[in-house]
Formats: sequence, structure tokens, C-alpha cells
Amino acid sequence: MIPLKAIHEEETDCDECGEHLVLDVYESGGGFYVGFWCPNCGPYSRESRYFEKRRYAEKRLEWMVGA
Ligand SMILES: [Zn+2]
Repeated sequence: MIPLKAIHEEETDCDECGEHLVLDVYESGGGFYVGFWCPNCGPYSRESRYFEKRRYAEKRLEWMVGA
């Protein structure tokens, strides 16, 4: 499980390597979720609950970024 960090930002910087991260939809064992993923450090944070289908998580992302 990816920790629920709830940064409440659309963009952030990785605490460990400083990489600039943008909110997006990712998949883990628990399902699809909106969160941040660092290309250097791996899963960074989860900003939503887990969704069964990718399109539900994408809807959630749209809502979170105000698209
Ligand atoms: Zn990183």
C-alpha cells in the first residue's frame, strides 16, 4: 500500500532527490489512485483512495486539478 500523504498540491518536489513531481494516476496492488510517483525513488504519495478502474481515478484527478 502506498501511504496516504494528502499533500493537496498539483505539483511537488521529492523530499529525497528533489525531482519535480506532477499529480497523475498510478496503479498499485490496491488499484488505481491519484498521487505522485518519483522516477528516482518510486511511489511517493497517494492523494486519493484506491479506485477499481483507471477511468474513475482519472475523473478524480480531473476534479482535483479543476480541469
Ligand atoms: Zn525522488
